[in-house]
Amino acid sequence: MDETRRREYLRAMGVERWVLRPEPGEPQPEPSPVQRSPVPAASPAGPEVGEGVPPPSAQDSGTASGGDRDLPAWLLEEPPQTDDYIPAREPAEYPADLEPAVGPVTDLSALGWDELRERVGECRGCELHRSRANTVFGVGDPAARLLVIGEAPGADEDRQGEPFVGRAGQLLNAMLAAIGLRRDQVFIANILKCRPPGNRDPRAEEVQHCEPYLRRQIELLAPRVILCVGRVAAQNLLQSGEAVGRMRGKALFYREIPTVVTYHPAYLLRSPEQKAKAWADLQAAYRKLTP
Ligand code: SF4
Repeated sequence: MDETRRREYLRAMGVERWVLRPEPGEPQPEPSPVQRSPVPAASPAGPEVGEGVPPPSAQDSGTASGGDRDLPAWLLEEPPQTDDYIPAREPAEYPADLEPAVGPVTDLSALGWDELRERVGECRGCELHRSRANTVFGVGDPAARLLVIGEAPGADEDRQGEPFVGRAGQLLNAMLAAIGLRRDQVFIANILKCRPPGNRDPRAEEVQHCEPYLRRQIELLAPRVILCVGRVAAQNLLQSGEAVGRMRGKALFYREIPTVVTYHPAYLLRSPEQKAKAWADLQAAYRKLTP
């Protein structure tokens, strides 16, 4: 990124002060008093949050400021110049020759992880089973303290059977790394386990039919904190009609579990000026994770 664009981009994110990295061979400048400590990186051994892991750069204001070397790289990445990360939309139709949906999912309260995964894999609870390639159960540590909840599988997720892959997934990984967590140290799930055709919003009856799976996942996981990414996830999990911008920063709970609402990584790819707010939300989630 050339210097003028870099400055415009940082200003758009609310970054008012920064120190430029020296060219190779140039002397390192002295850190200014306002610069923060580097953001922690997860160790190969996978440290427990709050146990020997230094906190992310303290930033209570929610506005990125200070030397750019101290900000996570994902926050400073140049916004994409094309929309090529947005999956092509497809006709929202179901194949006619598959079995119909069978209705709401029944009681799951006795199921463990393996049985639950199996039940999801064979689910025909709503019409989405007709058009899916794979169910997307969720991925990560079944004992994780942080649960990330997104909306529904997209095209890549449907193909691979895993949530948050592709560019949005890479950004989520980078965001988690900025608070010292690897992807395999959290659990990642979606409101829906099957992809809505054409990447349309989930329908109310689909959410209603699929909700018991997520509820059981949360019961089994008993996370310390939920990070809800995006409007669809936040509104459905928290039974709210509010926009993400109005939910973020509030003390919210899902069944007494502290829940932090932030923007979806796919939205951040399109609207990088919101990354500073997402960074503040991540740090808020981190603080709730620590004892
Ligand atoms: S979206 Fe949920 S309820 Fe619908 S078929 Fe898939 S797993 Fe079943």
